[in-house]
Amino acid sequence: MTTVFPVGLSSKRYSAEFQEEAQYARQWQRVLAAAYGNGPITCLCRAAVAGQRQLAIKLRQSTNLYSVARYAHTGHEHNPECRYYAEETARSGRQGYAEGVLQEDDKGGWRLRLDRGIDARVREAPSPDEQPPDTVRAPGARRPSVSLLGLLHFLFSEARINVWAPKMEGKRSSSVVWREVVKVAERTTISRGVTLDEILLRPAMRERPEAENNAKIIRAARQHQRRLVVVGQLAKDKGEVTPAKLTLSRPFGSPHLWLPPAVWERAQRRFGSTVRSWHRGEPVVAIALLELRTVRPGDSGPGAASIVDLALMRVTERWIPIESSYERLVEQQLVATHRQFVKPLRYDADEFALFPDFWLTDVGKWLPMEVFGMQTEDYVRRREAKRRWYLAEFGSHWWEWVPRHGTMAQSVPDFPPKATS
Ligand SMILES: [Zn+2]
Repeated sequence: MTTVFPVGLSSKRYSAEFQEEAQYARQWQRVLAAAYGNGPITCLCRAAVAGQRQLAIKLRQSTNLYSVARYAHTGHEHNPECRYYAEETARSGRQGYAEGVLQEDDKGGWRLRLDRGIDARVREAPSPDEQPPDTVRAPGARRPSVSLLGLLHFLFSEARINVWAPKMEGKRSSSVVWREVVKVAERTTISRGVTLDEILLRPAMRERPEAENNAKIIRAARQHQRRLVVVGQLAKDKGEVTPAKLTLSRPFGSPHLWLPPAVWERAQRRFGSTVRSWHRGEPVVAIALLELRTVRPGDSGPGAASIVDLALMRVTERWIPIESSYERLVEQQLVATHRQFVKPLRYDADEFALFPDFWLTDVGKWLPMEVFGMQTEDYVRRREAKRRWYLAEFGSHWWEWVPRHGTMAQSVPDFPPKATS
């Protein structure tokens, strides 16, 4: 999924093979041990671009092994294909959170402040998305916590599923996507001493280790009275007006997911175009917060759970998240013309957050790309404000498409040429 690049250490260069292959593992450990506390170690994923891309060497006490991690707030200096890459806050909807909501440490880990706690014994106030409109924050105000959708956007961004390069063609299977998402969950703390992977049910095939792992997570949740989070692709639409159950593909080891009508109605209001695209047969990813139901004595299966909150996200066949059918056309055209790009995600930001629909990343300085799809008066006003922002920030270094209204059968304008290097 991501590329391992050589690193530089006291004027020596260490190849990807030397860092990764078992036959060099002891030598690599000796190199890291000698450099521990001395540094600097530098990632060589990009040449001649601003940024130091210095990395930290850390020692895990439990195993006495050294490893390498990026420093906090330096992820954007790396090549988007590099395993140390992370998006810059200002380049996506991440800018919509207050200070400290998404906190990165110097060991590659994250601490997130979620809307809802995971302790099933605590009854809470409704999340900001369920509150009546007059209590909603002012336009442009920073959000104090992460919703379920924000959490899903965080996982997909941090796992770099929103990054595309031509050499990824044909390599991004569902198993790869969920494996990378789980890796991010393992280094994301969501409550005191609890990382997300401890409460995250993930897609699993029958009798695979992932299914057994789901069963283990459920047993622990029952013991500690925790809520759970489940992620996965929505199974095909069966045409029910109000589905009683949420069905995900590869659900093994997970409980039956009962979907209360009120939760489904709220999801339809909030994710209307996503639900319609699911009815059309397009892929949609779901994330849900669950409360386990009590089991009858002697029952050993995964049991059942009620969905407390649900968020949905449209994706393309390459699992790139998108917000509209026009964005789907742009994504297809970018892939067909072998381009490299990043799809910045909205998280919980409102429309006042300024970031583009795509970043084209094979043109030197990242180039913002915008699809002005809607025609309402309000939207046209915002379009002009955004155009002024692009002109002020990027001069002529940006791309836009204003599709003719009401028809999908039209061609996407040409993209700016690749930088030659
Ligand atoms: Zn790098």
